[in-house]
Amino acid sequence: MQEIKQIVSDSKSIVITTHKSPDGDAIGSSLALYHFFKKSNKEVTVIVPDAFPTFLNWMEGSASIIHHDTQTELAEEIISKADTIFSLDYNGLGRIGNLSNPIAESTATKIVIDHHQDPQEFADHYIVDTNCCSTCQLIYEFIADLEELDKFDKAMGECIYCGIMTDTGSFRYPSTTAKTHQIIAHLIDLGADGAKIHQEVYDTYSEQRLRLLGYALTEKMKVFPEHSAAYISLSQEELKRFSFKKGDSEGLVNYPLSIDGIKFTVLITEKEDNISLSFRSKDDFYVNKIAKEHFNGGGHIYAAGGMLELSLEEAIKKVEKVMKQ
Ligand code: 5GP
Ligand code: MN
Repeated sequence: MQEIKQIVSDSKSIVITTHKSPDGDAIGSSLALYHFFKKSNKEVTVIVPDAFPTFLNWMEGSASIIHHDTQTELAEEIISKADTIFSLDYNGLGRIGNLSNPIAESTATKIVIDHHQDPQEFADHYIVDTNCCSTCQLIYEFIADLEELDKFDKAMGECIYCGIMTDTGSFRYPSTTAKTHQIIAHLIDLGADGAKIHQEVYDTYSEQRLRLLGYALTEKMKVFPEHSAAYISLSQEELKRFSFKKGDSEGLVNYPLSIDGIKFTVLITEKEDNISLSFRSKDDFYVNKIAKEHFNGGGHIYAAGGMLELSLEEAIKKVEKVMKQ
């Protein structure tokens, strides 16, 4: 921490990066740290690999985020000039798509702040706690360790609140601790409006998104009570039918877990050129190993992801086979 304190204090140009298809924790942690460095009079930019869902646009600073896929030249110029790069909410360069090359090539000091298992070797410093519910909580603790909590304000508080809320399923997963609630209490004291943030994220669906949820649960969910498992699969054609937008399937994978006795769920989504998989579990069943061993992925014990270069039918067959195993 002493070393990192010195690096931050000497740093003139900071870049904050996060994973592909950024979620509430990724954007929340990046923007909270961004506001903190701005307040510390640092030059700082948030660079993401690709777009994030529109239900995160309310966060202060979100419009200033640089997208590497559509603003490649600008993003890479800023990265080449950075002296410090933060990697938030990801454990390896494989998680940031095409952003991995400029980050790997940069000579800046690299600092990872993350809560995923198996951090890979690509950075100089690691602040990793795999038991922590969210990278947002780690950012709060990081700023506390820097003895700079007095810099916290409402905007930063709302970013952190959002990431903790989305990564804990609204404070219900086992990773939610007394410390998590103590942090949330402080954020509310600073003016963070929990009800408003819940509404911004969970009550701003399009009609099509809600109908996709209904269709997926009624028509596309297959339940295997004998294996305590269930999956939902969605093809490109089905997604197009419901005018699918980024973020529209967020949370869908959790629904089958609310069936009594179901401990393992999978969402199988056909993308343009591959199959993406989302895994969730509960109790004594862990999905990170399954994601790593069978689906080229990884993640947390109860929430993981992966990818297959197969047809949708083949991917479904593979999931069924693994479920039986
Ligand atoms: P989601 O299902 O929400 O996309 O991802 C669930 C969790 O698994 C997230 O914490 C995410 O970071 C992680 N994850 C998703 N896809 C991958 C992947 O391909 N590789 C690894 N290592 N982790 C992933
Ligand atoms: Mn996270």
